Amino acid sequence: MIIILKPDASPSDIQKVFDTVHALGVITQEIKGATTTMIGLAGDTTAISPQSLERFECVERVMKVQEPYKLAGRRFHPSETIIEVGGAKIGGGHFAVMAGPCSVESEDQILTIAREVKLSGATILRGGAFKPRSSPYAFQGLGLDGLELLKIAKQKTALPIVSEIMSSEYLDAFARDVDIIQIGARNMQNFSLLRDVGSLKKPVLLKRGLSSTIEELLMAAEYLMAAGTKDVMFCERGIRTFETATRNTLDLSAIPVLKEKSHLPVIIDPSHATGRWNLVAPMALAAVAAGADGLIIEVHNSPETALCDGAQSITPAVFHKLMTKIGRVRAAILED
Ligand code: PEP
Ligand code: MN
Repeated sequence: MIIILKPDASPSDIQKVFDTVHALGVITQEIKGATTTMIGLAGDTTAISPQSLERFECVERVMKVQEPYKLAGRRFHPSETIIEVGGAKIGGGHFAVMAGPCSVESEDQILTIAREVKLSGATILRGGAFKPRSSPYAFQGLGLDGLELLKIAKQKTALPIVSEIMSSEYLDAFARDVDIIQIGARNMQNFSLLRDVGSLKKPVLLKRGLSSTIEELLMAAEYLMAAGTKDVMFCERGIRTFETATRNTLDLSAIPVLKEKSHLPVIIDPSHATGRWNLVAPMALAAVAAGADGLIIEVHNSPETALCDGAQSITPAVFHKLMTKIGRVRAAILED
């Protein structure tokens, strides 16, 4: 961190700044230029707020030199993180497709879909048991019964499970029954939930908030990692923009940006990003071409009667065709 002082800063005012930062345990180095004096701070500056230092009369500006996300960032962890769940690997050149319904509705439904997506090459089964719905009157998911049904699907297909947690109340059940814990877009900055889930040390799929910046997403990952887990995946699922033709706007540039800044895998959710089933395949393929480490896709055997997100769910037949194309795009981009 660098503190840039005003040209007319008095020695006594500068001393107050020194005293303050020394009390915070950092080492300082004064750099005197022809017109500007700066103070360089070394050591652990994570708890220092640049805004607070800018309150000093003699301080012109405070600049951060390092990113505040030390665990999620690439600086101290240059190699890619590879996450392993039940035989599936994600990241560092390993690609994973998570597929399944928005919500678990019945044993028959989840088993049928799980078998279909597995046959097409999915390596992880998605299914919501606790659903974050905009309306309190909409289907809220089957809750713990939904987790039980996912467990049955896992036993019968050997597919690991990804499912969303909405409250720390169910931490034990998720720790026991779910292989990848999903933090939904609406909870990306639920810091107590992030801490609790991080402390389980299980793989986490962290969805980007509807109006969150990439830096905020990285800091949410930092919360999970500071609490204990090493296995975090980012999930770009579309952000709110002025556009209404699609449910959200898929920020594909988040893939290379996140990969530049972080060693963690990046998953794309073309279903929630577009909200329309016929846009899922083109955006999934674009995500693969842009370097995503995986996809999470809503698949339903009867989208017309789905209890949640039928409009954006693709059928197993469409999913099957998409998987073939994903293989071709991956082969094309690996050919260099
Ligand atoms: C979901 O995956 O079913 C979901 C609700 O996603 P998001 O949090 O991205 O809206
Ligand atoms: Mn959904």
